[in-house]
Amino acid sequence: MSTLPALVLKSGRDKSVRERHPRLFASAIKHIEGKPKDGDPVDVIDNKGEWLARGIINQQAQIAVRLMTWDAQETLDDALLQQRMSAAIQRRLRDPLLKATNARRLIFGESDFLPGIIADDYAGHIVLELSTLGAVRKDLVLIDALRTLLGPRTIIVRGDDERLRNEYGGSVPSAVREALTSQAPDEPIEIWERGLRFLVNLAGGQKTGFYLDQRENRAHVGSYCAGATLLNMFSYTGAFAVHALAGGAAQAINVDSSAAALALAERNIAQAPGEGKSTYVVADAFDDLRARRARAEQFDAVILDPPKFAHNLLQIERASRAYWDLNRLGLTLVKPGGILATFSCSGVVDRGLLQKILFSASLEAGRDAQIIEHLSQASDHPVLLTFPESEYLKGFIVRVD
Ligand code: SAH
Repeated sequence: MSTLPALVLKSGRDKSVRERHPRLFASAIKHIEGKPKDGDPVDVIDNKGEWLARGIINQQAQIAVRLMTWDAQETLDDALLQQRMSAAIQRRLRDPLLKATNARRLIFGESDFLPGIIADDYAGHIVLELSTLGAVRKDLVLIDALRTLLGPRTIIVRGDDERLRNEYGGSVPSAVREALTSQAPDEPIEIWERGLRFLVNLAGGQKTGFYLDQRENRAHVGSYCAGATLLNMFSYTGAFAVHALAGGAAQAINVDSSAAALALAERNIAQAPGEGKSTYVVADAFDDLRARRARAEQFDAVILDPPKFAHNLLQIERASRAYWDLNRLGLTLVKPGGILATFSCSGVVDRGLLQKILFSASLEAGRDAQIIEHLSQASDHPVLLTFPESEYLKGFIVRVD
């Protein structure tokens, strides 16, 4: 029998644990037997004393336990972390969709049974992003495991600020912050995706540097762009435009609020194949779309790939209005017969809601629109069935008449 502290669930709060959902909320806890320290393993038992699962406790957070095993024999030790990291990496090696690139997500948190841990590989430079107290506690173990498993050129450690604040009761201790700041190469490094080259800024870039989750979608959207004029909204470093221009686009306008992102977009597009012309506009997307509508501009293809508008359920309504506004403007700017590729990476806005927003936006824009492709996150960001929240990116390619 296990000698770990035990967390007893309230009656009726065992369902999600039995269904192997990896997050246990503080509100489900009746009491704790023993005195676990945050970051320690605990057993989870139901209110009749039946053993259900084991995880890492954090009493400062709303998500009080990150469940890691439903097998009573399994110990939550460093060897288990290493074994799970190795398994996650092996899965990617066997994935045929990941052959055409040297940049991929190796570990996707709970979806790979490693809560709080993300690891991306950019041509041998690993970015390790930690977002739970339990993961931060194990930073050196994780770094060591990555060294052994991959022999990387560099390992850059980062924190996910938004999530870490929740983990540390509002503010991240400075020692933790320091542990999560490591030296990245000053110069952007180069990766490739389907034969196309991209510079990735690991030092100051967004996310871990590049939107790997859009990999397949870039190829899909690019395939509609032969001879097209493209309006690439929220372009970041221009990855959609690179694919579109390589697919024969005649023109690409890249709009982003970040001048640094556009500067890198310019370098990426300069070295891309294709004869099309490209321009770069530092602007707020909403303002820019309104100005284009006022000038009655239209394009064969419009991409809307905004940042996350809703971070939690409370923000859904405001986010929905923003998506609606963007999409009605975007639809207006598509030439009859052209396409709109529209995305949401807000986990709480599900595909059904995005479709409803798009429906309402099409009525407002007075345009008939047909969904011709459903898009999702790339296969190195798998959706674990016991953790539906891992599905966050969704998109549609819509033909607009
Ligand atoms: N399509 C990109 C990823 C887009 S990420 C790719 O495939 O790589 C979202 C981008 O939106 C970021 O580059 C961010 O700088 C930009 N952004 C955020 N808010 C914005 C706004 N209000 N107007 C314009 N760009 C914005």
